[in-house]
Amino acid sequence: MNRYLQSVERLQEAKNYVAGGVASSLRASMKPTPLYVQKAYGARILDVDHHEYIDYMLAYGPLILGHAHPAFNEQLYEAMQKGSTYGLQHEGEIRLGQRLTEILPCAEQVAFSGSGTEAVMLALRLARAYTGRTKTVRFYGHYHGWSDAIFTSFPSPDFSSSGNTEAAGSEIIQGTAGQSQNSLKDLILLPWNDPAALEETLTKHQHEISAVITEPVMCNSGCIAPKPGYMEKMRELTAKFGIVLIWDEVITGFRLGLGGAHERFGILPDLVTIGKAMAGGIPLSAVAGKRDIMRLIEEGTVMHLGTLNGNGLATAAGLAVIQELSKSDGQAFKDMEHTATLLTDGIRSILRTNGLQAVVNQQGPVFHLMFIDHSEVSDFDTFNLRDSQLYTRFAEEMLHEGILVRPNGLWYVSTAHGEKEVQETLTAVEKVAQRIAAHRS
Ligand code: PMP
Repeated sequence: MNRYLQSVERLQEAKNYVAGGVASSLRASMKPTPLYVQKAYGARILDVDHHEYIDYMLAYGPLILGHAHPAFNEQLYEAMQKGSTYGLQHEGEIRLGQRLTEILPCAEQVAFSGSGTEAVMLALRLARAYTGRTKTVRFYGHYHGWSDAIFTSFPSPDFSSSGNTEAAGSEIIQGTAGQSQNSLKDLILLPWNDPAALEETLTKHQHEISAVITEPVMCNSGCIAPKPGYMEKMRELTAKFGIVLIWDEVITGFRLGLGGAHERFGILPDLVTIGKAMAGGIPLSAVAGKRDIMRLIEEGTVMHLGTLNGNGLATAAGLAVIQELSKSDGQAFKDMEHTATLLTDGIRSILRTNGLQAVVNQQGPVFHLMFIDHSEVSDFDTFNLRDSQLYTRFAEEMLHEGILVRPNGLWYVSTAHGEKEVQETLTAVEKVAQRIAAHRS
């Protein structure tokens, strides 16, 4: 009897009506099958086959407070009593805008939208309008949403795209079928953590480049931290050439601390994009940054649109997350980091004992587990050498043991995860590691 029968049957039914059966392409890759959820609470999720899991996927990042957090939910119910959206202005937008400018060191003004993809689209548009230039520099292994303007695929077991390729210089950029060829022509892809490559390209193309966009930590490919001095160099070069520096903090924002990676690293980008955790699971994102650039919106030079932008539910969610995460002087971030460290220390030790070679890169409450025959992973090329098939198998076995992790290796920890969850998880890791090791010998 298939352990996931109800999920399998629902997927079959969904495929009659929903293209691909799932609502975002990435979700189709889950093994042994995309799961259907009954309900979720705290750090846990219950599927339609009545299996309970500790959730480290956390909806790909937004659930920084876990599922159905009581105080968060209460604020949403309260907001909804007054109507969820107006297409008019309201107090919540001002209060959230004010809080964000207080919290984010680079934020003089903010603009709201609904998803990380939209925030990145706006930031890139602002940069092009501000500089009068068209090209965007981005990096291999980073992800900035699925818009035509920036999407490129990269090797990952939970992501495969087919189709469009465009030669940019000597590099082949791969996008998705249906993507505008002209958008791809405006992209320059560089290896990350390589200051010489950056300096050479920015110097050579300085008059064409509007923006450099980067994840401050390469969370989407190995949770790799910038090498010492690299982000400082990027800041220095972009300032020198009048290029807008955009830090895509859709993952790191509200996760490496309320002020995100740019507060943690003490560097001021010109613009940041935030999303995911900022509203705890309700659609909301923002671009924040220098008034001098943001004023293009006020002047009407840059159009920024969206029917549901800044709606009352979203702003209430953003304010509720800030309220929870600000308690006790940001103790929540210390606790989450502590929980993640207990996990990463435990996982490293268990895998080592069972003869499984792995690297775990951790940044605060997020980490990436890779099976790889290297002592460290600090660049994209090395990341690509990991045994992703083995990880996919590990993730599937973990699911059988009641632990939900993404098939690509990135784990998120929320405020709802504590020592009990850590113990249960490490017990599961031990069982799975033993099974994998036995199977190999
Ligand atoms: N930027 C980064 C760094 C991301 O990780 C993501 C989503 N994984 C996005 C942008 C796009 O966000 P969304 O899925 O909300 O459109």
